[in-house]
Amino acid sequence: MVFASAAVLERPRRILRRDDLTAAERFGVLPMPNLDFTPEVAAATAHLYERVKNVIPAIEWPVHAPYVKAINDLKQVRNAVILAHNYQTPEIYNCVADVVGDSFALAREAAKSDADIIVQGGVHFMAETSKLLNPNKTVLIPDMRAGCSLAESITAEDVRALKRKYPGVPVAVYVNTSAAVKAEADICLTSGNAVEVVESLGAPEVLCLPDEYLAAWIATQTKVKIISWKGHCEVHERFTGEEIRRLRDDDPSVTVLAHPECPPDVLLEADFTGSTAKMADYVKMHKPKRVVMITECSMADNISALSPDTEFLRPCNLCPHMKRITLPKILDSLLTMREEIIIDSAIAVRARRSVERMVNLKI
Ligand code: SF4
Repeated sequence: MVFASAAVLERPRRILRRDDLTAAERFGVLPMPNLDFTPEVAAATAHLYERVKNVIPAIEWPVHAPYVKAINDLKQVRNAVILAHNYQTPEIYNCVADVVGDSFALAREAAKSDADIIVQGGVHFMAETSKLLNPNKTVLIPDMRAGCSLAESITAEDVRALKRKYPGVPVAVYVNTSAAVKAEADICLTSGNAVEVVESLGAPEVLCLPDEYLAAWIATQTKVKIISWKGHCEVHERFTGEEIRRLRDDDPSVTVLAHPECPPDVLLEADFTGSTAKMADYVKMHKPKRVVMITECSMADNISALSPDTEFLRPCNLCPHMKRITLPKILDSLLTMREEIIIDSAIAVRARRSVERMVNLKI
C-alpha cells in the first residue's frame, strides 16, 4: 500500500496547455447584466438608434437597446471585436459590429485584428475563416447551427475525387466552404474577387467549387475554362428571371442589382451583377432613385440605413442560417465564451494556405 501511494505521488503531472482549456476556463464566465430599458440605456444608445431609425420602428428600440449597450460594454471588458456580414440584421450590423462587409472584407479585417476574442456575426464557415487567419485568437460563433447550403454541398472527399478526375487543374474554392474543403484547394475566392483570383492562377482551366451559378457567371467574365460543381445557395437560387421581368413591368425605372449566386436567367435581367460589397458601392456611387437588390433581405435594410435618398424595393429572400445570430445570442457568447471554433491543426495548416493566398493577392 505504501509503495502504491508513493508511485502515485511520483507520477509526473500532466501539464495543462492553453488549448486544453475551454474558452470559459481561460476567460471566465460573467454574470448576466441588467437588461431593462433605463434612461441611462436610452441615452447611451440614442446615437446608435439614429443609424437604424429608417428600418427599426421606435417602438421596437427598447427591446434591442439594453442588449446593444450590454454588448458594447462587454466588448471593452473582454477585448473583443464583432465581425458582421452584410446579411446580419440592422441592429447587429449598425449597432454592435466593429467590422462589417462581405466575406472577403471580413476575412481580410479578421487578419488585422489585435483583439483577444472575435465574435462572428455570420455563419460557421466565416467563423472558421476568421480562426484560420487568427490561430492564436479565440473565435466564437453565437450559434453553432448557423450553417450554409453552399458549404454543405461539397466535402473534402468530393474535391479529392475531382482532383483525380482533372489531374493538374488548379482548384479555387469559394470562401463559403468548410476548412476541410479549403484544405484541398489551391486558393480561395469570394464573389468580390472571383474573376481576378481565377486569372491569377495563369492556367487554361480552373475548377471553381462549389457554386454552379457563381462559376457560370465567372465563365462569362474570363477566357479561362471553368469547371464547376452542383452547389447552390438556397437563398439566391429561389429568384427567377420572370420575377425580375414582372418588377420591371411594374416600374421600368427600377435599377436591378443581383448577386452572382443567382441563376443565370436572373443575372441576364440585372443592370449590375456583383458581390454584396460591390452592390453597396454601386448604390453609393450611382445613387439610383429606386433599387431592388436581388439577394438576402438584410442587405437592403443595412444599405438603406446609410442611403436615405434611395428607395429600396422588395423582393428579397431571408437566409435562415444568418438569422440564427441575434443580439441575445451575441451577448450570451460574450458572457459564457461559447461556442468556440476549433479546427484540427493538420487541416488548419493547409486551409490557411488557401485563404492566405487569396488575401495576399494584390487585387
Ligand atoms: S445566403 Fe446562401 S451562401 Fe450565404 S450563408 Fe445563406 S445559404 Fe450560405
